[in-house]
Amino acid sequence: MLNLTGKNALVTGIANNRSIAWGIAQQLHKAGANLGITYLPDERGKMEKKVAELVEPLNPSLFLPCNVQNDEQIQSTFETIRDQWGKLDILIHCLAFANKDDLTGDFSQISRSGFNTALEISTYSLAQLSGAAKPLMTEGGSIVTLTYLGGVRAVPNYNVMGVAKAGLEASVRYLAAEFGSHNIRVNAISAGPIRTLASSAVGGILDMIHHVEQVAPLRRTVTPLEVGNAAAFLCSDLSSGITGQVLYVDAGYEIMGM
Ligand code: NAD
Repeated sequence: MLNLTGKNALVTGIANNRSIAWGIAQQLHKAGANLGITYLPDERGKMEKKVAELVEPLNPSLFLPCNVQNDEQIQSTFETIRDQWGKLDILIHCLAFANKDDLTGDFSQISRSGFNTALEISTYSLAQLSGAAKPLMTEGGSIVTLTYLGGVRAVPNYNVMGVAKAGLEASVRYLAAEFGSHNIRVNAISAGPIRTLASSAVGGILDMIHHVEQVAPLRRTVTPLEVGNAAAFLCSDLSSGITGQVLYVDAGYEIMGM
C-alpha cells in the first residue's frame, strides 16, 4: 500500500494549477503526507497570494518563500523545518528557469549570463537544497527532481535547458551515491511535455506536444497528476530499492526511434 502517513514533505515549484509540483503535492497529500510548500516570492506578493489560495485545501503546515537564488531564504526554510517539524522525509525539487530568449534559436549564441542563470536555478539548486535537507532527513528520506528528455537528446529550442537537465541528471547520480549510506534516496522523473508556465517559454512547445500525441506508444501526453503518482511512489517505501535513477513518465515516448 502506498502510504505516506507520518512523512513530512517539502514541495517546491508550485506557481499555479498547471504546475507539475501542484500535481505532485496533491498526490502526496492523498497518500497522507504532511506538506510544506515553498513559493517564489515577488515584490508585490502576488505569487504568495495565488499559491496560498491554491494549496489551502491540502492544509500545508508550512508555507514559506524560497527563491533558490537567495541563500538566506534557503537557510530560513530549512531552519523553520527543523524547528517546526524536527525531521524531513521528502524533498520535491520541481523548479527551473531560463530566459525565454535562450529557449529558441541557436544554442551556440547563448550568453554567459543566460547560461549561468539557467544552470544556477535549474541545476545547482538541487545540490543546494539537498545539502540543506540532508541533516534533517534523520530517518532516511527521498528526494525527487524533475527532468526532461532534452537532457539526453537534442530537442529543438530546448537548448541551454537541455544542458541544465543533463547536469541535473548527473547531480542525481552523485547525490544518490553520497546520500545512500544515510538511507536517503535521490531520483528524477523525466516527464513528457506538459503545458505549464515554464514550458510555454520553450519555442514550439505546442508542436512538441502534438508530436508526442502522434508518436508516443500511449498516443497522448501525460498529466501533472500522473507525474504526481510516480513521485508518490518514489517517495514511498514501495520504491525502497531504487536510487540514482531517471524514471520516464512520458507515455512511452522515450523508447521510440521514429
Ligand atoms: P512551472 O512554471 O509551473 O514551475 C516552475 C517553477 O519554478 C515555478 O513554480 C517557479 O516559481 C519556480 N522557480 C523559477 N525560478 C525559481 C527560483 N529562482 N527559485 C525558486 N523557484 C523558482 O512549470 P513546470 O513545467 O511545472 O516545471 C516544473 C519542473 O518540471 C521544472 O524543473 C521543469 O523543467 C520540469 N519539467 C517540465 C516539463 C513540461 O513539459 N512542463 C517536462 C519535463 C520536466
